[in-house]
Amino acid sequence: MLKDCIFCKIVRNEIPSYTVYEDDIVKAFLDISQGTPGHTLVIPKKHIANIFEYDEELASEVFARIPKIARAVKASNPDIKGMNILNNNGQVAYQSVFHSHFHLVPRYTSNDDFKMIFKDNSNKYSPDQLKEIQESIEQHMGD
Ligand code: 5GP
Ligand code: ZN
Repeated sequence: MLKDCIFCKIVRNEIPSYTVYEDDIVKAFLDISQGTPGHTLVIPKKHIANIFEYDEELASEVFARIPKIARAVKASNPDIKGMNILNNNGQVAYQSVFHSHFHLVPRYTSNDDFKMIFKDNSNKYSPDQLKEIQESIEQHMGD
């Protein structure tokens, strides 16, 4: 628990939240921005900054809870047709609160208030370059 972390304060109920689920491992509450209605955050109660800090035990405990929370969010509104689940790690990746969290963003239409854009750069990489990237990642497995 970090004293000044806004999500640790939410875990300790020092800051109010619209909590939809909690147990000893996670807390799930409405994101204040409500990117789309029902936009929910799932956080581990233990303070860790980002995905790189999970050990396997915490990862399995947290990830195991996400589908049931996602199902409840989806079931809460018949207009929800799909859901994006995203997790930003590092400022460069749009993380603004440095207590790990997963966004559950309900999707209503392809034209609602959520957009995710990444380019197809496949024409910029030769098979050799892809092989080099693959091997480099493979070598660091278990770091
Ligand atoms: P990030 O940009 O780090 O992936 O997402 C952080 C999210 O936390 C943002 O979507 C933001 O709206 C949400 N947020 C920031 N402060 C609060 C707060 O005090 N209460 C709630 N419920 N959400 C917050
Ligand atoms: Zn925290």
